[in-house]
Amino acid sequence: MAERRYDPHEIEPRWQALWARERTWEVSNESAEPRSDGRGGAGGAARAGGRAPKSYVLEMLPYPSGEPHIGHLKVYSVGDAIAHFHRRLGARVLHPMGYDAFGLPAENHAIKTGVHPRDSTAESIASFQRQFRSWGISIDWSREFATCEPSYYRWTQWIFLELFRAGLAYRKEAAVKWCPKDQTVLANEQVDAEGRCERCGALVEVKQLEQWFLRITDYAERLLNDLDALEWPEHVKTMQRNWIGRSEGAEVIFRCEELGIDYPVFTTRPDTLFGATFFVMAPEHPDVMRLVHGTPHEQAVHDYVNHALTETNEERGNAEKPKTGVPLGRTVTNPVNGEQIPMYVADYVLMEYGTGAIMAVPAHDERDYAFARAFDLPIRRVIAPKNALDTVEAAPGEDGLPFVGDGMLINAPAEFDGMDNREALGAIVAWLDREGKGHASVNYRLRDWLVSRQRYWGAPIPILYCESCGMVPVPDDQLPVELPDIEDYTPKGRSPLAAAEDWVNTTCPKCGGSARRETDTMDTFVDSSWYFLRYCDARNEHAAWDPAALREWMPVDQYIGGVEHAILHLMYARFFTKALADLGHLDFQEPFQALFTQGMVTKDGSKMSKSKGNVVSPASIIERVGADTARCYILFVGPPDQDADWADEGVDGVFRFLSRLWRLAAETAERAGAPRAAASPAVPPAEGDDLTLLRKTHWAIDKVSTDLRRFAFNTAIAAVMELLNDCSRLRESVELDTMRFALATAASLLFPFAPHVSSDVYDLLVGERVWEQPWPQAEEALLERDVYELVCQVNGKVRDRVQASADAGPETLKDLCRAAPNVMAHVDGKEIVKEIVVPGKLVNLVVR
Ligand SMILES: [Zn+2]
Ligand SMILES: [Zn+2]
Repeated sequence: MAERRYDPHEIEPRWQALWARERTWEVSNESAEPRSDGRGGAGGAARAGGRAPKSYVLEMLPYPSGEPHIGHLKVYSVGDAIAHFHRRLGARVLHPMGYDAFGLPAENHAIKTGVHPRDSTAESIASFQRQFRSWGISIDWSREFATCEPSYYRWTQWIFLELFRAGLAYRKEAAVKWCPKDQTVLANEQVDAEGRCERCGALVEVKQLEQWFLRITDYAERLLNDLDALEWPEHVKTMQRNWIGRSEGAEVIFRCEELGIDYPVFTTRPDTLFGATFFVMAPEHPDVMRLVHGTPHEQAVHDYVNHALTETNEERGNAEKPKTGVPLGRTVTNPVNGEQIPMYVADYVLMEYGTGAIMAVPAHDERDYAFARAFDLPIRRVIAPKNALDTVEAAPGEDGLPFVGDGMLINAPAEFDGMDNREALGAIVAWLDREGKGHASVNYRLRDWLVSRQRYWGAPIPILYCESCGMVPVPDDQLPVELPDIEDYTPKGRSPLAAAEDWVNTTCPKCGGSARRETDTMDTFVDSSWYFLRYCDARNEHAAWDPAALREWMPVDQYIGGVEHAILHLMYARFFTKALADLGHLDFQEPFQALFTQGMVTKDGSKMSKSKGNVVSPASIIERVGADTARCYILFVGPPDQDADWADEGVDGVFRFLSRLWRLAAETAERAGAPRAAASPAVPPAEGDDLTLLRKTHWAIDKVSTDLRRFAFNTAIAAVMELLNDCSRLRESVELDTMRFALATAASLLFPFAPHVSSDVYDLLVGERVWEQPWPQAEEALLERDVYELVCQVNGKVRDRVQASADAGPETLKDLCRAAPNVMAHVDGKEIVKEIVVPGKLVNLVVR
């Protein structure tokens, strides 16, 4: 019999064409009209009897720039495996995709080439569509959209106005991080640890500008507390908690009597108030320049502020860094003792923390201490270690300072002196409260979200400015405010939209007079903060969504994406969900019930990049070995939540595995004649090798089912490899029905990872569509429970451990060892010259 060849380039397009023709992965809303062709799609709707449970599986919205990269292949391979698994378990699965299509790369490309961002984005989207179909990802394409389409951003603008009407969107002047190269304002999060623009690497500067903010800080407590109930990786929750940065303490008022201004500060240590000997403001504090205006200090302060703002927060916060600063020539009153203490501006105080001003207590804070020493300011100890009370005298420079531990209050008024400092903390706050000089307070590191951008390629902020009416929201029935076409995208320190005079000048909807449009556009993170809602009702022209559609699908059951979005995107999407729920538009509080963060795919140990020349493009790899191999490999190479290094030899190994599966199936189908149902052969007659293979098959069902639930796709695929090894080994000695059952089951289990070849194999053997079959169930009676852990060695080093049945012979043990994933990794490409078997214990492969 001539050996048949596995040809993914014939198999894959054939199945893709069928799925496209039949719109297999589309799923309709219960609330909507049924599909006119009568098909429910394999979304699960077709399943008989009662409503199937829903499952919303979603990968983070890709940014369409150029072609999809290997990271997209990985995240969608993970997501597709989950979507398929859920469908086969009987759920109606919503698995949509779209594009996060506004943003700087397309605009920067436009500046370079003159190509309109709309055109370059459309070109990139076409490439994504083509490639995603060639990967065989089970997307419901009927819900696809790009966030740059007016039919989408109309609702982004509507949400902005809802937030505006609720007081959650507001304008204020603020020191903003400014990228001199991109000529735009950056969110704090878009500035990297070195103080550089995340996009272009330029050193970020600071400017005072009127900006739009969203009041995410109103939600800090809820964003923090509600994390507890989410099925998210613990490290992601920790990152969110740290970003929110809750701390308890007190807000204390220091008054500048000369100017009659109150300066509140937040402190976690009100117990040290009696030791406050000076007062420091952050260089970004909006009052710094006002305090010195027209005084001899003005020039020095001005120079210092400009210099300080070019430094990174890390540098500025570093306790080791020599302290710098400039006096403001003013004083404030310490509210607990009435002392006048001098004011300084210094870069070690950050605007992001508290109110941007601190009371400095040099005896009990390292950085305040260093500053006091550098500027020869008084240092007054007010807490003493309990066991050394007698020996302590307060004096600058004395040993044992700064003292940051707990102890007893000293140098304090009688009512607090000698008190345990933690008790004094409460007592002092109560006293401040009574005196109207402060109160207990909680501080968050989280700041309000700066959403305005002085750029072209974004959703216009739907606000008008009228000379008589002031700020006027664009009426809902005039949305969307469409982006006008412009000639020149070059940033000039204001939005390029300002140049579109015909567009900017408009009529005030309130008074009919002339008005000007807001020319800033929205941060693209706004677009991606609600897209998951729109998928539930993507074609709705009358509203952002029908509440019934959201009730049907939300929340997302499984969200999948990179850990680099652990803070911003996830925080913003959670904030939008809560705010929209408060406004009565949603009836749930959290958008993403479960989250999976996949690791990066590296090459030669480092991140793929054009400059390093180590980029593996999905298109080229699929051209070479097909989508099934690429998808299967990327999930097999290691636990998908970890980083994994791409190796072409490993790809070839997976290709050989799929080839063997397909060839063995084709050969078995040919021997068996017409395909027929591959129900598990009856148990009693099976014995010998038939029983062995049957058991192995049920073992694989059990293993893959368990592994899929815990995202262990690599070991799931390895289990199918083990099953196939047994099929190959026993091909001559088992009944045809047993072989057919084992191979059909292998295809069924492999379908979530390699859908085309699995569909083909299942069709050859059984004549049915594998995706319409329920997920296989393991027969408890056939599960080998009598197993031990076989140690797998290569050249005497332990490389893996696999489960072996107690009665497995030496050949089976060798096969098991050779199929162990980490053994394969160490054997690949090398020749096995000897196999040593110690039954019940280990197998050692000698390779060279
Ligand atoms: Zn930049
Ligand atoms: Zn008006």
